[in-house]
Amino acid sequence: MRLRASRENMIKYQLIARGITDENVLKAFLKVPRHKFVPEEIGHLAYNDSPLSIGEGQTISQPYIVALMMQILELKNSDKVLEIGTGSGYQTALLAEIVEIVYTVERINSLIRDAEDLLNGMGYKNIHYKYGDGTLGWKDGIPTQNEFDKIIVAAAAPDIPESLTGQLAMNGKLIIPTGNRTFQQLVVITRTEEGYIHTNEGGCTFVPLIGDEGWQE
Ligand code: SAM
Repeated sequence: MRLRASRENMIKYQLIARGITDENVLKAFLKVPRHKFVPEEIGHLAYNDSPLSIGEGQTISQPYIVALMMQILELKNSDKVLEIGTGSGYQTALLAEIVEIVYTVERINSLIRDAEDLLNGMGYKNIHYKYGDGTLGWKDGIPTQNEFDKIIVAAAAPDIPESLTGQLAMNGKLIIPTGNRTFQQLVVITRTEEGYIHTNEGGCTFVPLIGDEGWQE
């Protein structure tokens, strides 16, 4: 009960107060228990307005930035979504609450294995997992899937990986933090018949996206 009240406060003061209005996003945040996705010893901080360490030098992102990215993507129930940077699996669960199917890629083996165990234990059946370099998208992933309605990247790239824009379905959207290692802009790319349209949704700070089409370590 106390944890649900913490989630309700998080939604009211961190999300709605800052302009998150997408009902699907708000419902998912109410349902998914963030405290299950952080190390037990910092469980009491799970509903804080901040990123938290999840080990391996990585973080679970601040709730607001996750909600903002999901809202910008205008997620639909029928969407196939590619997520790069599984981390703790928290955002994966939020996505899986809303869309038909989630494909998630993580470059640190222990993180994706732990996230998969946790999400399987929570009963999620609409998630596919891949250990590897997400800058290349779902290339060689199983089941085979080359086109995504939405792609969400939870780590910061120096440039937009072409492999990711190439895996967008027509009218699909990619959201990715892009910039230097300390500060980035949230960039949205929409694939249209006329080409790719870029928009900038403001500043942010993420851990680096490391891989062939990202940073080199
Ligand atoms: N969304 C996650 C959550 O809810 O816990 C947080 C993601 S964390 C901010 C970024 C993640 O991106 C890290 O786990 C990191 O290992 C991963 N990452 C970095 N480069 C990657 C790459 N090339 N492919 C896949 N994952 C990558």
